[in-house]
Amino acid sequence: MEENKKMTVRTRFAPSPTGYMHIGNLRSGLYAYLFARANGGKFLLRIEDTDQERYVEGAVELIYRTLKDIGINWDEGPDVGGDFGPYVQSERKNLYMPYAEQLIKSGHAYRCFCTKEELEQRRAEAQARGETFKYDKHCLHMSEEEIQRRLAEGQSYVIRQNVPTEGETSFTDEIFGTITVNNSELDDNVLIKADGMPTYNFANVIDDHLMNITHVMRGMEYLSSTPKYNLLYEAFGWEIPKYIHMTPIMKDAQHKLSKRNGDASYEDFINKGYLKEAIVNYVALLGWNPGDERERFTLKELEEAFSVKGMSKSPAIFDNEKLTWLNAQYIRELSEEEFTKHAMKWYEMAGISHMNTSVLFKILGQRVEYFAQIPDMVDFLVKLDEEYPVEFFTNKKSKTNSEVSKSVLEMVIPALKALDEWEETKIHDLLMNMAAENGLKNGTLLWPVRIAMAGKQVTPGGAIEIAILLGRDESLRRLEYGLKKLS
Ligand code: GLU
Repeated sequence: MEENKKMTVRTRFAPSPTGYMHIGNLRSGLYAYLFARANGGKFLLRIEDTDQERYVEGAVELIYRTLKDIGINWDEGPDVGGDFGPYVQSERKNLYMPYAEQLIKSGHAYRCFCTKEELEQRRAEAQARGETFKYDKHCLHMSEEEIQRRLAEGQSYVIRQNVPTEGETSFTDEIFGTITVNNSELDDNVLIKADGMPTYNFANVIDDHLMNITHVMRGMEYLSSTPKYNLLYEAFGWEIPKYIHMTPIMKDAQHKLSKRNGDASYEDFINKGYLKEAIVNYVALLGWNPGDERERFTLKELEEAFSVKGMSKSPAIFDNEKLTWLNAQYIRELSEEEFTKHAMKWYEMAGISHMNTSVLFKILGQRVEYFAQIPDMVDFLVKLDEEYPVEFFTNKKSKTNSEVSKSVLEMVIPALKALDEWEETKIHDLLMNMAAENGLKNGTLLWPVRIAMAGKQVTPGGAIEIAILLGRDESLRRLEYGLKKLS
């Protein structure tokens, strides 16, 4: 029966609600989800909130929202339920103590009454001797009478794991292979805190077992503690899950990407106008590759392609430029309607939401790498920088200089004024005919028109598109101002 239950792959994402969804968290959740899906298994969400001091209001909702947003759904979890709930650790509080007591009975754990001050003093002494402090098993040797007396007095205590001082513990990680540590290097971790809450060190073992987790996927920072967890599994006589530890995501060769350093979270990228599909695609490739040249993946495709074989043994470097490049690819493939839907917020912010969205799509659709770039790209549409240098009118390739530009504007302004309808084809035909009739290159005519309307040499879009976006009055006002500048 037990064997049968374990046949189905079961993975979990076990975030602590301590703030926003860091890119590393997102990747942990994504990989556990993909592994479950790729193997026809179940994916669980478990909220690890036993560290009440680190708890941040709203963080749980953020976890739900982020996962849902990118299309990750969980088969079991706090909100959807399941056979192994509750899925929030604080709601499981009473369940851990009997297991801890079982370990005390079997000698694998013990009560520790040492106070913070006592521990600090011993730590300081160890440091003074040049040693790193490890709990010295002081309370392990307390007599039963002494323990009972202290309990009767209501003294507060923690429960510590009793790690053997000799021998070795080995375990196998699916990525890193067999890892062996000397037990003497392991500390007697606290399993249950004075407030009765389990620590991560205990809760992860109890819960992964009770929830029938077959594959524990988590960050490398837990690799060195895993032998201690295995000693607990062994003490209970439980089957040890398979371990898949993920390499850290680095900012550069030396520094880990971390929320403490203010490195980007999922929300930061969303707020800058990155597309969630691109973020997921990029994050999936941070520490995994499909074994071929493919770089573009939808979530569905990842669910099929993902395998532990493709997971990397070396840290991944978070490359903002690469993400931005990938995001730009995704944006370029958006339809006008989709693009406008994403861009509208930024149009509003920039003050151009009243402008022709088809023309905006035409000039921005292939240029924007992430939507927050829009306001800067279109600043000239909102307001002409009247201080632009008159030298902008001179351009070798377009064969223009101040003089040529002046005569072009003198010719163009009245003709545009007389135009019956301010419409793209009409403006286009008028300007092209005018160039042809005067034996001018199109560029010679369009250059000064665009400079006068934009006050910039480099703009998304050409003269005609800008004219449409600005509208008749503003276009003419700017053209006349340009002419004044040239006169
Ligand atoms: N609650 C842990 C964290 O957020 C999860 C570690 C695990 O997946 O076991 O780091």
